[in-house]
Amino acid sequence: MQEETVQVPFSDLGLPEPILRSLKQLGYETPSPIQAKSIPMILEGKNIIGQAQTGTGKTAAFALPILANIDLKQTSPQALVLAPTRELAIQVAEAFQVYARNLKNFHVLPIYGGADMRGQLRSLSRGAHVVVGTPGRLLDHLRRKSLKLDQLKTVVLDEADEMLRMGFIDDVDTILAETPDSRQTALFSATMPDRIKQIAKRHVGDPVHIKIAAKSTTVDTIDQSFLIVNQGDKLDALTRYLESQESDGIIIFVRTREATGVVAEKLSARGYSAAAINGDINQTQREKTISRLKKGTIDILVATDVAARGIDVERISHVINYDIPYDSEGYVHRIGRTGRAGRLGKALLFVQPRERRLLGIIEKDTKQKLQAWQKPTAQQLAEQRKTKLSEDIATKLENTVADVYHKMIAELCETLDQPAEQIAAALLSDKFSLEQVAPPPESKKPKRREREDRDDNRDGRSRDRDRGRDRDGGGDRGRERKSGRSEKDSIPFEQYRIEAGTVHGVQPKDIVGALANEAGLERDFIGRIQLNEDHCTVGLPPGMPKDLHQLLQKVRVKGQPMRISRVGKDNAADKNDDRKERKRPASRKPAGKSFKEGNKNAGKRGENKKPPVNPQDDNRGNR
Ligand code: AMP
Repeated sequence: MQEETVQVPFSDLGLPEPILRSLKQLGYETPSPIQAKSIPMILEGKNIIGQAQTGTGKTAAFALPILANIDLKQTSPQALVLAPTRELAIQVAEAFQVYARNLKNFHVLPIYGGADMRGQLRSLSRGAHVVVGTPGRLLDHLRRKSLKLDQLKTVVLDEADEMLRMGFIDDVDTILAETPDSRQTALFSATMPDRIKQIAKRHVGDPVHIKIAAKSTTVDTIDQSFLIVNQGDKLDALTRYLESQESDGIIIFVRTREATGVVAEKLSARGYSAAAINGDINQTQREKTISRLKKGTIDILVATDVAARGIDVERISHVINYDIPYDSEGYVHRIGRTGRAGRLGKALLFVQPRERRLLGIIEKDTKQKLQAWQKPTAQQLAEQRKTKLSEDIATKLENTVADVYHKMIAELCETLDQPAEQIAAALLSDKFSLEQVAPPPESKKPKRREREDRDDNRDGRSRDRDRGRDRDGGGDRGRERKSGRSEKDSIPFEQYRIEAGTVHGVQPKDIVGALANEAGLERDFIGRIQLNEDHCTVGLPPGMPKDLHQLLQKVRVKGQPMRISRVGKDNAADKNDDRKERKRPASRKPAGKSFKEGNKNAGKRGENKKPPVNPQDDNRGNR
């Protein structure tokens, strides 16, 4: 087992009191490794290049020092965060808002394509301390002069490799040219391909490189598995896991103090003997709780990393990573709490879809593949409960059941005038809820995300889709698509023509970028892209809403308005290109797959988005 790294507290990083207060209110105990290294550097005004994945706490790594340096009296933007997608822009802006809860009158403004331009113009004119935006829309505002960057102190390029992949790098260059030379720049990227290094060289002068050193270790006495699961579904997955396992002592790791209490409480309400420990609980109390775990008075300990440091309890049969650790070192420390004294231990890791990359890193650093855990269905669990009941009763019957119980049953039958079967059924209904023994059939057609998760868990490889788009630069994803697991195969795409082609320098990634950011379409809902000299065609799900169609007329790709039109409907163009697609037999059309399913903004768009009245005033969006 490795030496545990000494944790620096947030209070040692140089952050001001209102921000430390926000962190305390949020239940953050200690900085993550990327935070511990980046925060002091950014506070000092250094330029940094950080290699970090989603899930490592990179947002706070730049947001906290930026907030610390904000002059609340100055209302023109002081910090600009460039993000590849609207989802990320929104998440980052939300994070700023949360961390700034104790900074009075702080304003952060997310700016992204597809959102109402007039609203953004109004907000910009009111002033914002921090702007978080996608490149295309930011460029629009710069051209309109509605966004001024001359007072900017800090620029963050978040997920730079994604920006590159989505074809935004030229825009990033243009935007950065509008910012003061004196600005501080921080670039975060999960990977560091050569192009990113070149970009960093161009824009990030004299940088400090921050990378969390990978320490490779192997742990062989522990049976390790993972489950891709959304945050909101973790509790259900946890209870199913607990029920499906033969366990002794269990430690569940979460990230925040709040989460320790919440999870322990929910488990207690479900009949488990669980307790929480976190950094707020004093040492004596913590020790008492650990000793209860040792003695078996409680079976489950829900803990933060800080509070669980040094726990050495032999009876720990399972470690559950309810929240993913920040890095592989943290993972190895956590799971090392089980598999002690030569026993075999089990570890489960919950991974949110957007954290898949971190899973890959853990596997790489620990030089082993984690097995995908097959979450049992409610039906399987019900069967398991019945089997266990029958085994328990059989064991009981091996010894004589005291006469008094036989007598009680006989009396109940007589008093209630009911057969013994009825009495037994009534007793069982006290032990098990109807749901536990006869659950309603689980939906045959799972939600899209569940389907994905199941796929991912089947072969243990990720589709690596995050925040509505693919996240890797090829690799596994390319192989998977060929392997035929893509949902694309089941979508009866309609062909659309876009008036931009190779002469305009368009590449497929530009089309994907524009559609993802402007139409909010997920990559799996974008069909084959056929590039031609002056135009291209793309398959999109059927039933594109009218307002979106209008909007997409004007979205620009490589400077060209898309002027999107349905092939064979809006115009007769390009019949040859799409013959193959249009010839698909009707029988291939699956039920229920529509444009709406692939459009993360379906519905929302209809409510609040009207097509621009004046084409000159429209949003050109991202390219
Ligand atoms: P990110 O990698 O920025 O997407 O952050 C991942 C998640 O970790 C977010 O839900 C944050 O709220 C959470 N988080 C970030 N830093 C900390 C910390 N120091 N302690 C607890 N949770 C954190």
